[in-house]
Amino acid sequence: MTVSFLLSPEQEQLKAAARGFARERLRDLAAATRAERDPRTRALLSRPVFENAVAAGFLKGLIPVPFGGNAAGGVDAAILIEEWAAESPDFVISMAGPLIALAPVYQVGTPAQVKRFVRPFLVDSGAPLAAMAFSEPDGSANFDAEGRCQGIRTTAVPDGDEWVVNGRKAWASHLCGWDGDGPDVMTIVCRTPGGVSLVVAEREHLAGRIEVEEYYDLPGLKGCLTTRVRLTDVRVPLGNLLGEEGQGVDLTRDAFLPSGASIGVFATAAMRQAFDVAHRFASTERRGGPVPIIEYQAVSDVLADAKGKIEAVRLLAWRALDAVLSGHPSGPELALHAKVFGSETGVAVVNDLVKVIGVTAYDEGFPIVRHLMDALSYPVIEGSNVGVRRRQLQTLFRTPGYDPLAASGMA
Ligand SMILES: Cc1cc2nc3c(=O)[nH]c(=O)nc-3n(C[C@H](O)[C@H](O)[C@H](O)COP(=O)(O)OP(=O)(O)OC[C@H]3O[C@@H](n4cnc5c(N)ncnc54)[C@H](O)[C@@H]3O)c2cc1C
Repeated sequence: MTVSFLLSPEQEQLKAAARGFARERLRDLAAATRAERDPRTRALLSRPVFENAVAAGFLKGLIPVPFGGNAAGGVDAAILIEEWAAESPDFVISMAGPLIALAPVYQVGTPAQVKRFVRPFLVDSGAPLAAMAFSEPDGSANFDAEGRCQGIRTTAVPDGDEWVVNGRKAWASHLCGWDGDGPDVMTIVCRTPGGVSLVVAEREHLAGRIEVEEYYDLPGLKGCLTTRVRLTDVRVPLGNLLGEEGQGVDLTRDAFLPSGASIGVFATAAMRQAFDVAHRFASTERRGGPVPIIEYQAVSDVLADAKGKIEAVRLLAWRALDAVLSGHPSGPELALHAKVFGSETGVAVVNDLVKVIGVTAYDEGFPIVRHLMDALSYPVIEGSNVGVRRRQLQTLFRTPGYDPLAASGMA
């Protein structure tokens, strides 16, 4: 049995198709998004491209095969994300809502729930949205804390044959949907009488019951439609509870594993773009000296260190996504390393590449600081490294019988 890291002919095709779409559609979108000052207006610019991507079958590519989609393995997902995120990471994050919001549906949904909640995304037209409403304005890192005034504060109270949901949610892409009446499917992390639980609200339940309090103006990932919203008396059928009451903490943690692993790929995309810019600059610019600056050992040392780290994070992220999407036991630990190590390395590497270029980099029009602004988000989104992700690693390490070699397969 051999392990090969060479792309198959099919993966080469996927890379070419993804790169083609990214250059044709996402490059111009990213430029237009950067130029628009209003956060809501600029997020809405992506809708026609979103529709193109749905028509090209990319949305179905996010849905696993057993649930009617045609998602392939982790390495394929990594290739697609890297190619798109190289041009517009915000577009990928906006489109990937189903990856997180539907994960608990796949895990514990009844056949009827699977049919109802997944169906809106098995389409060839339109721009259907899913949001994982986990984060709250008063904090999310301690979402598993017990007690009424801690952790998740959004509540769902049974009333007849419905849950009545009240609370405030924040940050998740597309909480408000394209028009303010919510996404097609919103998976809400909330507190029910039986503990932290997940309840699905559909657009028909959200319309008129969701109020946008603020559109966040992000320094990077500018096309992401992130808001703070208030949910008031959102009534959903009791049958929209996913799994059992009290299962919400575990389901939420699991739902963020694939997206956590993918942060390593987003970081790779930012580093790869920044490296390309810095390498070209160093190879051509003399900055008043006798030779291109790549001839100086100090400059090429930074490039060498950066390139090694890019290759390392890419391989880690491929492996993590492969493990997590195939349900391998090493998935959780590898996903956490791809998230934490990948994101921290991404920030450090892009920052070093800015320093290679020098002051020229510090101009909005020069194409590198934008990648740093995107990369700065990766340690804090998908559960911050300090508040959430390293604590999850701590929990793994403290598990009785934890084997440090298991994640690598070398036990
Ligand atoms: C573009 C974008 C997309 C996003 N998409 C989603 C999404 O789809 N769904 C969603 O729900 N959210 C989303 N978020 C929010 C994101 O997942 C955050 O990571 C999440 O809200 C948790 O933030 P936090 O860890 O900083 O928590 P906070 O509770 O705000 O914690 C803040 C800080 O406090 C400290 N801290 C708090 N508690 C502890 C502790 N127990 N131990 C150690 N330190 C602690 C840490 O330093 C931590 O970083 C998105 C954000 C952005 C910008």
